[in-house]
Amino acid sequence: MTITIVLDPGHGGHDPGAVANGLQEKDVALQISLAAAERLKAKYEGIRVLLTRTADVFVPLPERTSIANRERADAFVSVHCNAGGGAGGFETYMYSRSANPNTSELQRVLHSEIWRRINPLGVDRDRGPKKADLYVCRETNMPAVLIECLFIDVPADAERLRRADVLDALADGIAAGLGSYFGLTSDNQPVSVRIEVNGKYVANGDAIDGRTWGPARIVGEELGASIGWVDRTVTVNGVKLPTRLIGTAGWVPLRPLADVVRARISWDGKSNTVKLKM
Ligand SMILES: [Zn+2]
Repeated sequence: MTITIVLDPGHGGHDPGAVANGLQEKDVALQISLAAAERLKAKYEGIRVLLTRTADVFVPLPERTSIANRERADAFVSVHCNAGGGAGGFETYMYSRSANPNTSELQRVLHSEIWRRINPLGVDRDRGPKKADLYVCRETNMPAVLIECLFIDVPADAERLRRADVLDALADGIAAGLGSYFGLTSDNQPVSVRIEVNGKYVANGDAIDGRTWGPARIVGEELGASIGWVDRTVTVNGVKLPTRLIGTAGWVPLRPLADVVRARISWDGKSNTVKLKM
């Protein structure tokens, strides 16, 4: 199965986006997006990376989302820089009314992978993952996140956006976040863990990025839950959970699974075991 990723450099052509401190948002967004595309292709097999623009041209918003929908993209990442007050910093957005739990999962991993790369380079304001009603996030049919790469109109941020190491870190964070979201990650290898339900071994899972994942059906049914599928997403007692497809099985993070079925969950580091109890 080929994974299709659409990267969307904001603005372009007669629409420069934010302009300040000798920088134009459209140029910075394109530079970061092109570098992220290169990194994705170099790092991971079996993915198709498309860009809504590769040059300084104007592309209307509906055309950007149509490209992603028509190509049946699995993820959409829009790259922008911020402006308009504030003390600078980094933030990401997803559509406020997204009903797809994979959207917040995509935002979570992109945000943290980018932040842990730019923070050591002197970016000290994490404005956090946010929700808003943004056109490109709302009109795309797949998990979509918009990244605000620092403030063009804050001099200290503009200075950072001129630095090759900061631009590299932003591009690498986007690639690593997508790699992690799709389970392609090369630098954070998953660690295999045992999963027990009511004291009995039921399956192996993976711990990655501070989250433990396991096969939804095996673990869920052992806990008496009813497991279903909606829109490539596992449901547990009707509640959609973030889903990774491993082979033909849907895997979900075990903590939200435990929350839905009201099981107690604990971690035994000595035996590398996640214990769920009803
Ligand atoms: Zn913008």
